[in-house]
Amino acid sequence: MPIFQDAKGKNISNFQKMIDEKKNTIRKYYDEIGHLYYGQYKDVNVDMTKDINARCESISNLYIEIEELNVKILRERGLKKCAVCSTENNLSNAFCFKCGARFDDSDAIPADVIAPPNASATPSRKENKVATPVETAVAETVVAGDVIDASDAQEIAEEGKEE
Ligand SMILES: [Zn+2]
Repeated sequence: MPIFQDAKGKNISNFQKMIDEKKNTIRKYYDEIGHLYYGQYKDVNVDMTKDINARCESISNLYIEIEELNVKILRERGLKKCAVCSTENNLSNAFCFKCGARFDDSDAIPADVIAPPNASATPSRKENKVATPVETAVAETVVAGDVIDASDAQEIAEEGKEE
């Protein structure tokens, strides 16, 4: 086993671990829902609706949290997913190279979101780079030009599709 592991790989494996734990919790809730529902079926005087619904809500939240962790893993790999066509794009892309949808970078999750709460005193990377409209327009033009010959991104996306 390598003693040295780069920070990126460490973050990714931490996120993956959190995803696995959440998946285990989801399985546990599904199991409990089954038991609760059966208890209700066996005894008409028992109403487990509240307990069942609470677990259903928890499961929905866990799925959202898993999706957020998947986004963080992608970010560690320098990628982001198009909200329209789900194609993986380079983080720097302003538009999806596949379908042309614009990336709303406001919903990009900064990597330091996972830092402990007291770390929020330091300004986030996003606040540091507030581009003027002119800068944004220039950046988009450059990125749009890159998109056409972004064979790297294309390859990555195609690999992802072969499932
Ligand atoms: Zn797209």
